[in-house]
Amino acid sequence: MAETIFSKIIRGEIPSHKVYEDDHVLAFLDIGPLSRGHTLVIPKQAVKTVGELSDESAAAIGRVLPRLCRAVQKVTGCEDYNILQNNGAPAHQAVFHVHFHIIPKPNAEEGLGIVWKPGKLENGAELAREIQEALESESR
Ligand code: 5GP
Repeated sequence: MAETIFSKIIRGEIPSHKVYEDDHVLAFLDIGPLSRGHTLVIPKQAVKTVGELSDESAAAIGRVLPRLCRAVQKVTGCEDYNILQNNGAPAHQAVFHVHFHIIPKPNAEEGLGIVWKPGKLENGAELAREIQEALESESR
């Protein structure tokens, strides 16, 4: 994978406002916050999408994410927040290094705005079975 600006942030070649670091994870403030406290949580493993993460990186992020959310809630005084995670340019990913956004939602104007157009679930049983089978074939 081509290097992104986040690899340079991990190596300290580009400054960031770091809030957390361990062997596998770095968290820092987003340079273009949607609201105060907008934080990015990234694996040190340089891959583009969640599906490419090693189990070790994924577990490390999962372990620390709730703690980071609580810290952002405490400091911003904002109870409500979104976790946003984009995979691929059509899905609004701009930096091709996996990252999770923690975005406080203090009011209707600030934070993440979402356009949500629900459809109707069709052939759910068949679809669920296909996904189950895909999971099973991966673990074989
Ligand atoms: P994406 O659309 O890929 O999910 O979001 C990328 C995020 O990275 C954006 O919210 C953007 O503001 C943030 N970002 C891009 N470059 C930098 C940077 O150099 N430093 C920091 N702190 N954030 C960045």
